[in-house]
Amino acid sequence: MAESITIFDTTLRDGEQAPGFSMKPAEKVRLAQQLEAAGADVIEAGFPICSEGDFEAVTAVARVCRQAKVAALARAVEADIRRAGDALREAARSRIHVFIATSDIHLQYKLKKTRAQVLADTFSAVRMAREYTEDVEFSAEDATRTDLEYLIEVLEAALEAGATTLNVPDTVGYCVPAEYAALISQLKSRVRGIENAALSVHCHNDLGLAAANTLAALAAGARQVECTVNGIGERAGNAALEEIVMALHVRRDALPFFTNIKTEMLVPLSQALTEITGVGVQPNKAVVGANAFAHEAGIHQDGVLKSPLTYEIMTPQSVGLRQGQLVLGKHSGRHALQKRLAMLGYNFERRQLDEIYREFLALADRKKTVEDADLHRLAGGGALPRAAAEAQAQPGARS
Ligand code: MN
Repeated sequence: MAESITIFDTTLRDGEQAPGFSMKPAEKVRLAQQLEAAGADVIEAGFPICSEGDFEAVTAVARVCRQAKVAALARAVEADIRRAGDALREAARSRIHVFIATSDIHLQYKLKKTRAQVLADTFSAVRMAREYTEDVEFSAEDATRTDLEYLIEVLEAALEAGATTLNVPDTVGYCVPAEYAALISQLKSRVRGIENAALSVHCHNDLGLAAANTLAALAAGARQVECTVNGIGERAGNAALEEIVMALHVRRDALPFFTNIKTEMLVPLSQALTEITGVGVQPNKAVVGANAFAHEAGIHQDGVLKSPLTYEIMTPQSVGLRQGQLVLGKHSGRHALQKRLAMLGYNFERRQLDEIYREFLALADRKKTVEDADLHRLAGGGALPRAAAEAQAQPGARS
């Protein structure tokens, strides 16, 4: 039986923290509504103590989202927790997400606290967050570089204080998949009371392993994934929502899980984020990049035209694109050229097509891609577009 995975989207919090991605409250509301419509289970809307704007954004998102849970981030500090609780007051379903670093590196250099102090802070912070909501998530920041015995102690303290989700972030994107999976298995079997909480993962992409680490953790027993649209987030970003969702969707045979995300909303979500922030995605980005369903090489184009199964493991429609794209360039073959010409209304005899194909290749050598306007010019010397030809053939048709 396939098991359900909770999608915790943090585009509006971790994603927004990345340079160039800050969003105004109204923009966050717009994206939150789209995330909710797409089926995100939890939407982390911001870090209310950070600024007036972020407090306002979380308040506004909490007001409009009625299905999705709205989460607010807080350090394990009283002022943060109270501010998060206040921002979520009007939420239909709220979550406070409390975090504190647990690795010795962070304790020594950043927090300047002892392990005992951090353990005590964990307990009191989670308990305080529970005054505001029954849904409290605890994150052990830099968990993957934390001493295992100490990590277990901290997570047990969080559970005892009433945490309902335990997050094990790979904050600095340091883990490799087998190692992360082993950590999750250890925690599943050793943390007392863990069966009463959801185990969550939050992966960063510093080594390009965020999606791989996330999937490895699911196989090892994690049931909540933290991710962002287009994979935006601190430094190299977070695990990309669209990559996790489509990996689970396309490879149901290998990964027996499902999410509530409507896959055909993935491209519209990606485009909405791009529009709001003005930052595009790389063309070769998995699932939502401009080239994700584009084929230029002749052999590939010929294959896809005969059957998309040859070179597409998912349909463009399944992620919300109307159709794939055959990009015409110097690697393209006669078949793709003929197809595009037909779409533009031109039908040529074999001999004429050969002639146009030769001119097309010469042009493609000079230009990177050949556009429809170029094709009209190339084809202009030959047959007229069908519609024009028919109109001309019609007796009495005016020119
Ligand atoms: Mn993060």
